[in-house]
Amino acid sequence: MSKARLAVKKWSSQQTIVGVGDLFFGGQDLVVIAGPCAVETQEQMDIIGRGIRAAGAQALRGGAYKPRTCPYDFQGLAEDGLKMLARAGKKAGLPVVTEVVAPEHVPLVSRYADMLQIGTRNMSNFELLKAVGRSNRPCLLKRGMSATLEELLMAAEYIMAHGNPRVVLCERGIRTFETYTRNTLDLSAVPALKELTHLPVVVDPSHGTGRRALVEPMALAAVAAGADGLIIEVHHDPDHSWTSDGQQSLDLEAFQRLMSRARALWQTMQQVNPRPRINQRPSRMPAFSERIGNAARVLN
Ligand code: PEP
Ligand code: MN
Repeated sequence: MSKARLAVKKWSSQQTIVGVGDLFFGGQDLVVIAGPCAVETQEQMDIIGRGIRAAGAQALRGGAYKPRTCPYDFQGLAEDGLKMLARAGKKAGLPVVTEVVAPEHVPLVSRYADMLQIGTRNMSNFELLKAVGRSNRPCLLKRGMSATLEELLMAAEYIMAHGNPRVVLCERGIRTFETYTRNTLDLSAVPALKELTHLPVVVDPSHGTGRRALVEPMALAAVAAGADGLIIEVHHDPDHSWTSDGQQSLDLEAFQRLMSRARALWQTMQQVNPRPRINQRPSRMPAFSERIGNAARVLN
């Protein structure tokens, strides 16, 4: 029995739809966030932004503050990187998602980002969770690499309890004894979370596997498991990426292939296991209001 109050389901069909601008997580459409691990240059971000948009992605990602295991590795471009990301998002017409690593950075990152990402290494950084809870930006909360689902829900609870109900959960792989893959992508977390919480759930098969060849199969498996969305690392030239995550990054062509297959599978899944129809685009929805049609709550 979870100690969470806000993050857990109160009735079995309860579903929260988290709005990020015109984008809705947890509704009728598969939401795909794509982009490089790290922001490198404006040109890189512009090429990738254009490319993923053409392939059908709905949001652009890119880290400007990179929590790296080694202090000598590239740490991100900080505010310069945020500016490049925001510019590229604007040019491509896509909202942007980026990681925030410290509570004192939340106001700065919120100025540029449409959605704040909390990374696996910070899922239990309670001061950061509280600061994101006090912000007015929706949050993509990644599962800690050694966190149980209850711990993930309690991290979401922190954000919600501090005033921010717009939380999207992300399964990104956990540590196991297996070393062939970077992490073990726990896809059972998707239906398990769907049982436990009304929050949308997305899957990151890039960090979940660490291997380019495994990203598309696991992305499709995530859709089949009932995920509301995907976050995929994409680089226009993955072998020259500034971070080691190039090995798990798709090039634009491979990403386009993934998108068309994921969309086809999403359509099939709607026939096999249809989602309740919800009006996702309420005209002039006031901030944080509730929409009870089909037991859904739309937060935008
Ligand atoms: C990332 O998204 O680039 C990232 C660092 O993810 P994670 O926190 O899941 O390792
Ligand atoms: Mn990465």
